[in-house]
Amino acid sequence: MKSTKNIDLFLFDLDGTVNMGDRPLDGAIDTLNRLTAGGKKVCFVTNNSSKSKYDYLEKIHRLGYNAKIEQIITSGMATAQYLSRYRPYKSAFVLGTDQLKREMGDYGIEIKDDGDIVILGFDTSLTYDKLFHACILLEQGREFIATHPDFVCPSEYGNMPDTGAIMALIEKTNGRTPSVIIGKPNAPMAEFVFDHCHVEPDKVAMVGDRLYTDILFGKNNKMTSILVLTGETTVEMLNASDIKPDIVLNSINDIEI
Ligand SMILES: [Mg+2]
Repeated sequence: MKSTKNIDLFLFDLDGTVNMGDRPLDGAIDTLNRLTAGGKKVCFVTNNSSKSKYDYLEKIHRLGYNAKIEQIITSGMATAQYLSRYRPYKSAFVLGTDQLKREMGDYGIEIKDDGDIVILGFDTSLTYDKLFHACILLEQGREFIATHPDFVCPSEYGNMPDTGAIMALIEKTNGRTPSVIIGKPNAPMAEFVFDHCHVEPDKVAMVGDRLYTDILFGKNNKMTSILVLTGETTVEMLNASDIKPDIVLNSINDIEI
């Protein structure tokens, strides 16, 4: 089993790992403070592109941890950097929230109704008109990029249809699938993390509760992967899965430094 002793940066998923909705998991805030006091870097990595980094900063402050803005990483930020780096001078039609559009704006991406690229995010402001418009652009042959692949986002009321579910709806409509999906478990998100935090992958651990995003993210991108059993994944699900984490812990409170 791999050790966490030589890890410099711990990347944390949020829901199911650090918190459940607006409630921190037992001992989670003490653990984050213990890691920080022990000289470890801590960042929060979320695939949720419906909210901005500032929304997440506020949320983490409300949970009780005194994070700084540099510690927040969203798939929206990684998508915006990807476009500015690999699709310079291209405009975008954003099927996403105003927060995602603002994130694009921060990286200088021009947003237009007839944009060159259709960006699909977790659009909690989705309307039929917007969806139809995106489908028309895709049918005309625009490039298709999605912020992350998750099918559902957990909420206290039940699962919300997330970007992966909207992706499936678009594929049923016109057969189009994204050429790039940015968020966990994919490489563009990892590239963003390593740049943003100035670290090498062998010094990074990804800690999360979901096998097909968090753990695969660690494994695909040469980080140490740590599964916690406080969220989505049960021992039965872990045993049945081909995705095997480097380390399995009951909760983040069991991280040793
Ligand atoms: Mg989670």
